[in-house]
Amino acid sequence: MSFKDLQLNKPLLRAIAEAGYDNPTLVQEKTIPFVLENKDIICSAQTGTGKTAAFALPILQQLFDKQDAPKKGKKIRALIVSPTRELAAQIHENFKTYGKNTNLTSTVIFGGTSIEPQKDVLKKGIDILIATPGRLLDLHKQDCINLDYVETLVLDEADLMLDMGFIDDVKKIERLCPEGKQILLFSATMPFKVEQLANTILKTPERVEV
Ligand code: AMP
Repeated sequence: MSFKDLQLNKPLLRAIAEAGYDNPTLVQEKTIPFVLENKDIICSAQTGTGKTAAFALPILQQLFDKQDAPKKGKKIRALIVSPTRELAAQIHENFKTYGKNTNLTSTVIFGGTSIEPQKDVLKKGIDILIATPGRLLDLHKQDCINLDYVETLVLDEADLMLDMGFIDDVKKIERLCPEGKQILLFSATMPFKVEQLANTILKTPERVEV
């Protein structure tokens, strides 16, 4: 299977070729069609399988294809929640690489670093936000983040997120996003507590295992 077979659009195919990828990985083959169909997903995949592109590419495509006439200020339409700042930064790099031929913008926010520059970027408006749970809720409490326009929520490394004690934060973040959003849950392992979270928040999800 090729990336073209996955119905990805030209700006993305160009970025993929420039990144030097020849063909989609298994998790990309299985996940991308479901994301483009707007399905919820629960996916067990380890880091290194290409799982970031498995959600980043179809999210970029959906946002790119469904852009309204220029609005006053961009709204956050995709939110990716990640347990650690290193992972969040990596995900942001991926979005920049794959989205470079689009007009979509992204930023990353995490704790342990000055909050003011993050506020400034958020004020300008962005399409895609990658965040760790604590800093996300902190900035939301300070009215710097509006999640009312989120169309897709990604919970990455869900097992790690729960191990780190973020369960209540994750549930709170989910509730701050609109009712009808798409949710993509990725986890290296599927312990009971991840299944339980999935049962609570996902709507008839497709299961992807690699
Ligand atoms: P991830 O599992 O998302 O952390 O990705 C692992 C690595 O695989 C990253 O360095 C990606 O740039 C790379 N990668 C992702 N998709 C592909 C692909 N289809 N072909 C080759 N490399 C890829």
